[in-house]
Amino acid sequence: MYSLKVYPERCHGCGNCVVACPVNAQDADVFGGKGPSSDEKLIMRIENGVVTVLKPELCGGCGACIEACPVDAIELEIIKK
Ligand code: SF4
Ligand code: SF4
Repeated sequence: MYSLKVYPERCHGCGNCVVACPVNAQDADVFGGKGPSSDEKLIMRIENGVVTVLKPELCGGCGACIEACPVDAIELEIIKK
């Protein structure tokens, strides 16, 4: 299991993480750069100018969002069960 930790105080809402996430990119509008058409299968989106995690349980731990973030506002922990 993976645990996403975000630091909203560092985030400037660029949205790089939202479009870099392959799970989010299954939403055709996210992939097209328009923003999500629904929240149903989104791990994170931008709300009020900062990243907000909606469905962390969908995260596969690929790390793309961390690589895409210019301000180190996302961390991933591996939780052993
Ligand atoms: S680690 Fe990968 S699957 Fe998880 S939120 Fe980041 S980009 Fe998406
Ligand atoms: S990539 Fe980083 S700065 Fe940009 S929205 Fe995501 S968490 Fe915020």
